[in-house]
Amino acid sequence: MIRNGQYIKDLFQLAPGTKATAHGWVKTRRDSKGVSFLQINDGSCFADLQIVIDAGVADPAVLVQATTGACVRVPGTMVESLGKGQSVELRAEGLEVLGAAPPETYPLQKKRHNLETLREFGHFRTRSNTFGAVFRVRNALAFAVHKFYQERGFLYVHSPILTTSDAEGAGAMFQVTTLDMMNLPRDPATKGIDFAQDFFGRPAFLTVSGQLEAEIFALAFTNCYTFGPTFRAENSNTPRHLAEFWMIEPEMAFCDLEGNQQVAEEFLKYLITYVMDHCKADLQFFQERYEPSLLPTLENVANNQFAHVTYTEAVSILEKSGRNWEFPVGWGSDLQSEHERYLTEEVFRKPVIVTDYPKSIKAFYMRANEDGRTVRAMDVLAPGIGEIIGGSQREERADVLVDRIREMGLDEKHYWWYLDLRCYGSVPHAGFGLGFERMMMYLTGMKNIRDVIPFPRTPGHADF
Ligand code: ATP
Ligand code: MN
Repeated sequence: MIRNGQYIKDLFQLAPGTKATAHGWVKTRRDSKGVSFLQINDGSCFADLQIVIDAGVADPAVLVQATTGACVRVPGTMVESLGKGQSVELRAEGLEVLGAAPPETYPLQKKRHNLETLREFGHFRTRSNTFGAVFRVRNALAFAVHKFYQERGFLYVHSPILTTSDAEGAGAMFQVTTLDMMNLPRDPATKGIDFAQDFFGRPAFLTVSGQLEAEIFALAFTNCYTFGPTFRAENSNTPRHLAEFWMIEPEMAFCDLEGNQQVAEEFLKYLITYVMDHCKADLQFFQERYEPSLLPTLENVANNQFAHVTYTEAVSILEKSGRNWEFPVGWGSDLQSEHERYLTEEVFRKPVIVTDYPKSIKAFYMRANEDGRTVRAMDVLAPGIGEIIGGSQREERADVLVDRIREMGLDEKHYWWYLDLRCYGSVPHAGFGLGFERMMMYLTGMKNIRDVIPFPRTPGHADF
């Protein structure tokens, strides 16, 4: 195996004259006057290592196999590089091709492919410049998420993926069953499907959110967070929605909506700063290839205060905009993507936290305001993305919560344990959910959410 000191990123640190062996996959190959030049990459950094193979060094039968996509091992000596960019390259003293990649059939040849085409080659797109950078950033971002919360004493909780409770009616759920589809058991009384015979004795689903379970943990561990996959069977083919995505959901006891906003802002800035510090070359690449204003935008967000506006104020800004909205604006209707983007991209030109939404468009668990018509909800909107975080202060009063559950037409029996938390040791608490892939889009400037997750699941697509 490859150990520290042997990755290509480590070889770049070696002084000229040092012996080294490089391992990786060939990105490109060029031949000139009997000398072969291979660019190889092992995923450890953005830069490819240049390998120079002088005439006669490699067995000709092996050398012909060192084409784009092939896996190679090359012993040699690091030498000063004459080409631009890298300071060192490897002068080969041998060549092994561990796995050839016949050029007649290898799908990813040198020419640049568009992102749609690359999606069809989910098993090879990982070797391209773009996806190398995407998944290094994703790795750094996941690490930064844990680092942020661990440094602040938050407990990491694994919320369940299989669940029998509908978190909030937030999104359509995927049902999970072991019943025989061809021969469904019927309940003689209702004629409906008899889920008593199903695996869990009742209908079960893939979770849409770990929030309700995180609240159990916050009311024992004070501050906690989840970081795991969530699922929504929304049949919406947008560049911002996946059927399987990752969400980070912190939940804080002794916390109100102000504290919640502070954590959200601190968290987003921390993630941006961490990735800018640790993935410089990758971000530079995204800026050059995909989003010319990426680095200035990220720097701006990391170093400035977010804007704050109530839903009521936001609606009035939108009404006064003089725009012809596709979706009508009016107090009581939810903000659509076009409204969110107008606020964050044109009015404030930075992330905006919108708070205090009408209770009729938000979930039952959000804390009611004194005005009787709004709740302590918050959405964080980011330029280019729209909603990136959704959260709220939670209703901690048992009687108010029961009223809300009934008002929303939900069955309080299903929420017995959630209500118990309000009856025994209740405390004001708050939390939010950050869509991990939405954050990835923001950090990379990638415009389609399918290109920031290893294996995207969307309606009609679950390959690899
Ligand atoms: P949207 O209005 O964008 O569909 P939502 O209101 O359904 O989002 P929440 O239920 O508040 O979102 O989920 C919390 C966060 O999870 C969102 O702010 C967003 O970052 C992310 N998110 C929600 N749905 C998806 C999805 N289908 N794919 C990827 N990320 C998502
Ligand atoms: Mn949604």
